Amino acid sequence: MDHIIAERLTSIDPATGAEAGSVAVTTPAALDRMVETAAAAFRDSGWKDLLPHKRAEVLRAISDRLEAEKESLARLQMRDNGKPLSECRGMVDYAVGTFRYYASACETLQTEVTTPRGPYVSMTVLEPYGVVAAITPWNSPIMNDATKVAPALAAGNAVLLKPSEDAPLLAPELARIALEAGLPEGLLQVVQGRGAAIGAALVAHPGVAMISFTGGTATGRAIGKVAADRVAPVALELGGKSPHIVCADADLDLAVAAVISGIFGSAGQSCVAGSRVFIEASIYDEVLGRVAERARSIRVAAPDADGVEMGPLASFHHRERVEAFVARARSEGGRVLAGGARPEGAAYEAGAYYLPTVIDGLAPDSLTCQEEAFGPVLVALPFSDEAELIALANGTAFGLACGIWTGDFRKGWRLGRALEAGSVWVNTYKQSVTSTPFGGFKSSGIGREKGLDGLRLYAQVKSLYFGLQTTPFPVSK
Ligand code: NAD
Repeated sequence: MDHIIAERLTSIDPATGAEAGSVAVTTPAALDRMVETAAAAFRDSGWKDLLPHKRAEVLRAISDRLEAEKESLARLQMRDNGKPLSECRGMVDYAVGTFRYYASACETLQTEVTTPRGPYVSMTVLEPYGVVAAITPWNSPIMNDATKVAPALAAGNAVLLKPSEDAPLLAPELARIALEAGLPEGLLQVVQGRGAAIGAALVAHPGVAMISFTGGTATGRAIGKVAADRVAPVALELGGKSPHIVCADADLDLAVAAVISGIFGSAGQSCVAGSRVFIEASIYDEVLGRVAERARSIRVAAPDADGVEMGPLASFHHRERVEAFVARARSEGGRVLAGGARPEGAAYEAGAYYLPTVIDGLAPDSLTCQEEAFGPVLVALPFSDEAELIALANGTAFGLACGIWTGDFRKGWRLGRALEAGSVWVNTYKQSVTSTPFGGFKSSGIGREKGLDGLRLYAQVKSLYFGLQTTPFPVSK
């Protein structure tokens, strides 16, 4: 989002600089009304009391409609944030699968009969929280929105979805589709506007019972403090500086391709981007040479061009942030081996393009190696042995993901257990499925989305006891 005029928020297509669409900004008074509407829908619509297989029918209908509108949704996201069309199509598929998965999860989830220690039957059930705030970033709107909305609805909640001011166009489409699919009115509403204004008001609102946030670590920290003050449960999916490790015994063709796609897919605007590549010293020059050469040959083009491998960055102001990051890398002594500039040529002039960038020669504790660029910037570091590798790879505040390329199964296991990351990929990278929990260690987050953990995230455990005793209680037991 490059500018907000009066009461509307305009999304700018980063491939062309043209307007992609606009939405109305939510005022504080409108937010109050939306929270009231959501609370009333939660209380009165019957949604939370529907039998799970009936809730599942609506979730499946949402997924069918998303699938039917796949092409137009993918193109809208492409204009909203500039990701290649093929990636946007994949993200709609992901959203379709997510609603289907949580439909099935919700109707098959078991409540538990727990072991009694007295004359009663004891059991636990899951209860929804009520009104849930779901706050999402700009990089993968339809996917991140579905990852929160599907399980939160499956668990019986009402949801106020707050997309990023930089990619506001997909969330209203999801809300429209949900309504058309039969979701009771008021259960999914969209809050639009700047994070620091309406986002902060949403988090602080006493009518919001639970907050689920995906975004930057600094924002997550601020939200966590507000939530702590009012003892509201919070889930935080935050940033990363994920290590991508290439051992000398790896299949180097596969490893080089994965390192490239791990950082330059989505133009590096992925929380799990493998932004630090660790290469074993004995193969450092060879592998780094191959990585830099491949980075220089990546086809940077319009998101809907044939054969595009990397599109523009999501906004012009984000490109400025990435440029400042690379300028600082240079001032820290980094050697830029590929990229480090905007591409030249008429085709790139109107868009927020930046070249795939590979840098080495930096100290592991430099800011470039410690901070997230959230762009197409890869830093390379050598390692000599496992102990040094583990210390270096774990040596940031983050712990979101990591990749390990090795021909030695046991080494893959050892490293996989030793590395501080919520997701570890051995001989693969950036796999992310709805059915497998996802989240961060350390400053990369709190809580797990996806899988059954992702459903439990939006529910609270209640224990119920049914007494079987036939004699009155004594005063003191
Ligand atoms: P951001 O933190 O700036 O914003 C994320 C969302 O929070 C937006 O909707 C924004 O409007 C809102 N927001 C901002 N300040 C707020 C406040 N004070 N109170 C309430 N809401 C507020 O992040 P971004 O720039 O949109 O996204 C990039 C970041 O997201 C990166 O750090 C990336 O790693 C992270 N991310 C993490 C995951 C994950 O699953 N771990 C996935 C995607 C992106």
